Amino acid sequence: MNKKIPVQISPYIRTQYSYEKLKICRSCGNFTVLGDEECGACGKSALVPAQERAAYLTGRSAWLERLLALVLWGAGIGLGTNDMEWAVAGAAGLILMVLLIVMQNKFAETRYRHQLARLFKRGEEQLVEGLGIDHDEAIEVFKEGDKPLAYEMLREVGMLVRTDQLRMEQILLLQSFILRKDMDLMLEPLLTHRFSADLVEYIGELAKVRKDLIKEKAFRYVLVHELQILRMEQGEQILTRVAGAAVRMKRYVIMYPHLLVRYAGKLPKDRFLRLCMILKSEPARNWGEVGIEVYAIFNARYKHDPEFQSLGGMTFLAGSTRYSRH
Ligand SMILES: [Zn+2]
Repeated sequence: MNKKIPVQISPYIRTQYSYEKLKICRSCGNFTVLGDEECGACGKSALVPAQERAAYLTGRSAWLERLLALVLWGAGIGLGTNDMEWAVAGAAGLILMVLLIVMQNKFAETRYRHQLARLFKRGEEQLVEGLGIDHDEAIEVFKEGDKPLAYEMLREVGMLVRTDQLRMEQILLLQSFILRKDMDLMLEPLLTHRFSADLVEYIGELAKVRKDLIKEKAFRYVLVHELQILRMEQGEQILTRVAGAAVRMKRYVIMYPHLLVRYAGKLPKDRFLRLCMILKSEPARNWGEVGIEVYAIFNARYKHDPEFQSLGGMTFLAGSTRYSRH
């Protein structure tokens, strides 16, 4: 394994929708998530945020409709032959014009959303191609040796293109960094469909520095691939660390009892104490296999430990029973 390097990673700027970071080229219609001004496809300085483009197009079509209404209005008056007809055409045109503007304003938001969706739908190919160019640029930066920047670029692309390949590239880069508590890291977007030893190692690192990032999806991933993980050199250690992350919350202890039954015996003291406190917080509950296991470990190792005295012997677990099979 290569030596890990210390790096600075810029925080990831989160947006409500992932498309908010997309820019489109006014000239060739290419999309990019990394481009600043210059289009990577045609080279022109014509990039604008996709939302801005959609707003512009919505506004333009509204003006075209008004223009068309104005022409019809004029034609209506022009076709009149006497005062009465002119007056009727003029009044009807005025009413229609006002109605048109009122309706346009009322549905402006809907039309904008529609326009935005159409922009992406029509440009589907260019979107795929454009993000491909972004990806190539990130790989280029990686080859030039700027790993943190390459990671940041891949992270942007990866939020829009959810493929295992992009996830793996990010994980491999992350695994070459020294991870720290203060880094803006992520896990769930990186969970691959298939088993990946590199991903598991990354989870193992996170379980050391950012336990809070290990949530439901990660626990499920680890449990699904448990056997493969156990075959890894540090597999058992990683699973124990993940179990140590699970004792952060009572919810996880309840949801993933198997993880705790199997690895509670290997937890470091502070994590085991935390697990005991969770169980103690709800003594009336039937903690099932976890209760049996924790009680056995407690009696064997920590019964006389001063740090465990406040737990009062954990005797409430004495009655824990195995869950009956239905
Ligand atoms: Zn372009």
